[in-house]
Amino acid sequence: MAIPDIFKQRAQSENWDITDAAKLQTQQTIEADVIIIGTGAGGGVSAEVLSQAGLKVVMIEEGGLFTSDNFNMDELQAYGDLYQEGAGRTTKDGAISIFQGRAVGGTTVVNWTSSFRTPNHTLNHWQQHHGVAGFSPEDMAPYFEQMETRLNVAKWAMPPNANNDTLKRGCEANQWSWAVIPRNVAGCWDLGYCGTGCPTNAKQSMLVTTVPEALKNGAKLFYRCSADRIVFSDHKAESVECLALADDGKTPTGVRLSFKAPHIVLAGGAINNPGLLLRSNAPDPHKRIGKRTTIHPVNASLAKMGSAVNAFYGAPQSIYSDHFQWNTDGDMGFKLEVPPMQPAMGAQIVGFHGLKLTQTMEELPNLQGTIALLRDGFHEQSQGGTVELDSGGKPILDYPLTDYIWQGLRKAHHVMAEAQFAAGANSVMPLHHDATFYKSLSECKTAIDSLPQELHRQRLMTAHLMGGCIMGEDMRESVINSQGRFHHADNLYVIDGSAFPTSIGANPQLSIYGLALKQSSQLAAKIKQG
Ligand SMILES: Cc1cc2nc3c(=O)[nH]c(=O)nc-3n(C[C@H](O)[C@H](O)[C@H](O)COP(=O)(O)OP(=O)(O)OC[C@H]3O[C@@H](n4cnc5c(N)ncnc54)[C@H](O)[C@@H]3O)c2cc1C
Repeated sequence: MAIPDIFKQRAQSENWDITDAAKLQTQQTIEADVIIIGTGAGGGVSAEVLSQAGLKVVMIEEGGLFTSDNFNMDELQAYGDLYQEGAGRTTKDGAISIFQGRAVGGTTVVNWTSSFRTPNHTLNHWQQHHGVAGFSPEDMAPYFEQMETRLNVAKWAMPPNANNDTLKRGCEANQWSWAVIPRNVAGCWDLGYCGTGCPTNAKQSMLVTTVPEALKNGAKLFYRCSADRIVFSDHKAESVECLALADDGKTPTGVRLSFKAPHIVLAGGAINNPGLLLRSNAPDPHKRIGKRTTIHPVNASLAKMGSAVNAFYGAPQSIYSDHFQWNTDGDMGFKLEVPPMQPAMGAQIVGFHGLKLTQTMEELPNLQGTIALLRDGFHEQSQGGTVELDSGGKPILDYPLTDYIWQGLRKAHHVMAEAQFAAGANSVMPLHHDATFYKSLSECKTAIDSLPQELHRQRLMTAHLMGGCIMGEDMRESVINSQGRFHHADNLYVIDGSAFPTSIGANPQLSIYGLALKQSSQLAAKIKQG
C-alpha cells in the first residue's frame, strides 16, 4: 500500500503558494506583513501563529522541499539533501562534527523526536544570570502544554529497542534514575529512520504540521532561496536580500530576490543566524552577535553485546537518564541517551577510518551505542563558542574545549562504560582514536584515564546548536530582548534556538517550540494593536 504524501496532496488540493527559487529567471521584489527566514522549529511555529493572526506571511528557506515520497531511508541521499553542508559541518578546527538540518521544516525534518520541556533549573538560571524576563517555569508551562498537544507529544508507549533497553538495564543495575522519552509522533511505525526524513509522515515535524497550516492560511513559501543580507537603515531592517539557489541546493543561479516587510523574523537557527547578521554588518556595539553558541558537546561509548542489538531499527531514542545531569558537585552535568546507528550515521559516530573503521563496522549488528550530552554554558569555564565568518562569508563556529569540559567528558566516558558493562556488555570502547574494545570495567576505566584528551583524538559531535543571538534585558550582554526583538533594530526579531543564553540540558526542540509560540504570539498581538 502506497503511503500518501500528505504535503503534496494538500499543496495541490488547497492551492498553496510555493515557489522554487531555482526555477526563477528574473529578479523579484516581494512584499508582505512579516518575512520569516527559516522554516524549522522556530520559523515553522512563528509562521503558523502569525498567519493565523491574519497577517500576510512569507517564509524563506535555503534548503529544498523534500516530502515523504522523497524519504526512502537512503542515508547517502538524505544527508546530502537534508543537512547543512551535507552533514559534513564541523567546528572551525574540524574537531567536533555538527549535524544540523537544511530543508523546508528545518532540522525538525531529520531530528529523532525526543521532546522535553526546558528544565526548571535552566529557566531559573536564565532569569538569575542572564536577565531574561517572563521565562519562569510557571510562565512557560502553558506554552509547552499547547505545543505538546499540537505536536502529539507523549511518552513512547512501545517497548524500547535493544539499544535503548541496554541503557535502561545499565541504569537499573547501577541504581541510577532513568525514564521513558516523550516523542512527537502520530502513528509511528517504529522504523528508526527519523534522521533521514520520516517516510510515513508520523513524525510531527514542521514539514507536516505548522508549515502546511501557515500555507493553508495563505502564507507564501520560497525555497532554495538563501537570505544573503539584511539591509539596515535608521534602526530598522529594511529588506532581506536573497540568492536563488540552483537545483543542487548550493550554487547561486544569479537571480536575486528582495523581500520587504514591516516585520522580519530571523529563524535560521544557531550558527546561521549570527552568520547572516555578521554578513549584513548588523549594528552590534557590544560585539555580542555569535557569542555564547552552545552545543551540548557529545561523546560516545560503544559496547559489544553478546546478541544482536540492531541499533539501526526502532524508535531512535526512548530511554534517558538525568542521573548525572543536575547534582554534579561542580562537575559538568550530562544527559545519557543512545543514538540510532544506521551504517553511515554509525560510521560517523565511530569516527575511525581504514581498517579500524571496517573492523568496527563489521560488528555493527551487535554494537550498542551510548552518548553523553554535556550541559554547556552554565559555568565560567564553559561559555560556549563564537560564530565568525570564513573567507567566503559562510558562518563557522569556533568552540574552545576547556579543562572543565575535558573533565566532564572523561567522567561521562567512565559512566557510560559502567552502564554498558552493568547491562552485560562483553567489551566496551570509549570512542577515542587510541582506544580499543576493553574486556573489563577496570581495564576500560584505566584506559579512559590515560587516553590523551586532545582534539581530533577524542570523538566529539553535536546535533544541538543553540545560542549566538542570546536573549536578555541587558543589551551589553545579549543580542535580543526577552520578546525576541533585536536590540538595535525595532522591527527585527530572532525566534529560534539561537536565542537561548545557555544550552538547555535536554534535547532542545520543545524548548524552541514553546519559546516560538510565546514570542510569535506576542509579536502578532503587537502588530495587530498597530
Ligand atoms: C540528527 C538530529 C537529531 C536531532 N534529534 C533531536 C531530538 O530528538 N529532540 C530534540 O529536541 N532535538 C533534536 N535535534 C535538534 C533540533 O531538531 C533542533 O535543535 C531544532 O530543530 C532547531 O530549531 P531552529 O528553529 O533553531 O533551527 P532549524 O530547525 O535548524 O531551522 C532553521 C532553518 O533555517 C534555514 N536557514 C538557515 N539560514 C538560512 C538563510 N540564510 N536563508 C534561508 N534559510 C536559512 C535552514 O536551512 C533551516 O531549515 C536533532 C538534530 C539533529 C541534526
